[in-house]
Amino acid sequence: MRLFLAIAAAVAAAAGLPVQPARTVVHFGHLWDGGKMLDEVNITIDGDTITSVAAGAKGPSDAVDMSRYTAIPGLIDLHTHITYYWDRKPGTRPLGQPRRRPAVTVFLAQDNARRTLETGVTTIRDLGASGDTDYAMRDLVALGAMPGPRMFVAGQGISAGRGWTPNPPALAKQAEDRINAGSDWVKVYASRGSFDSVDTTQTLTFDELKAIVDAAHALNHKVAIHSYGASGVRDAVRAGADSVEHGVEIDDDTFAEMVKRGTVWVPTIDHNRYYVDARDEYGFKPEAIPPLEEYIRKNLESTARAFKAGVKLGMGSDAVYTMFGQNTRELEWFVKAGMTPAQALATATTIPAELLDRKDRLGRIAPGFAADLVAIDGHPLENVHDVVAGVRWVMKDGKMVVQR
Ligand SMILES: [Zn+2]
Repeated sequence: MRLFLAIAAAVAAAAGLPVQPARTVVHFGHLWDGGKMLDEVNITIDGDTITSVAAGAKGPSDAVDMSRYTAIPGLIDLHTHITYYWDRKPGTRPLGQPRRRPAVTVFLAQDNARRTLETGVTTIRDLGASGDTDYAMRDLVALGAMPGPRMFVAGQGISAGRGWTPNPPALAKQAEDRINAGSDWVKVYASRGSFDSVDTTQTLTFDELKAIVDAAHALNHKVAIHSYGASGVRDAVRAGADSVEHGVEIDDDTFAEMVKRGTVWVPTIDHNRYYVDARDEYGFKPEAIPPLEEYIRKNLESTARAFKAGVKLGMGSDAVYTMFGQNTRELEWFVKAGMTPAQALATATTIPAELLDRKDRLGRIAPGFAADLVAIDGHPLENVHDVVAGVRWVMKDGKMVVQR
């Protein structure tokens, strides 16, 4: 273990990353620890871990002075595609770029990783990539060789191809293959719908979803199921999905079932707002815009009902290409859906930490937790927009990764 740490430090130094002294004290004017607000707080960090949080005291003379700011825990984005990279070259578009070799994609996608860290997101669940690029990025970040959020990844999503006939055992086998190849999570597409298409057509049956979930759970891995339409969400929940991505017009019985099972719903409202805003970049046809706007309205309506029903909601941006840097705008939709800013922050801290089986390590500022801290200029518990626009400094695993 000591040898591994020495190697990791050497790799970090070679990559030009800051190697922090072993013990650091950071002093914040205010701090939201994932549950409550504290004032005049000293956080002691040993290596990559918080060892104490003490309120009501002046900072020691060697403390990092963050007294102007409010600290919140490093945020978790539950739905990204961080290897979807576009260089913004004039005359090209994000979709239909020339093919790149996987290593080139991984190298270029560092830009998405940097933009993500700048939003205060220090952990992502990446739900779909090709060419093993997400495995490579996850491993490079974990080594300290690439700056970026810690990654939980799914590899290639499982979907029904054109002309697919239902085949539960074949899909169970695919789930096992993904896990054996290195996926932390299994991602399943149970419906159509992506980019400018809001097609809600279900593409996998309940029996197929159940076969995938059972196969993954037998290997102690979790499953995220994509469904734009209500029937796919209903079947995904009853098949035992750990999280469900997207969805509109979801019925109350399905919400009740989510509450009973503890299923996390990741509605990804903001990603369609992004597609509307980025329509020219993508070259979307004007006819595509009203259905996207309609989907946003229905998505928000279902989110408000889900929240009222007590469903666990998770912040997922579904960021691709130029959306990195906007990862946390979903929080503002959650406030529109009826949450307080603290409740919205829970969707990006404590709720996803539990979903990722890291509730004792991520999503809070407390002894024993990873030293992931975000300094906010403003009042995050009064105005969630301050979280979206007020990030000034980010620490991940005890190392400063953003300073503005
Ligand atoms: Zn996605």
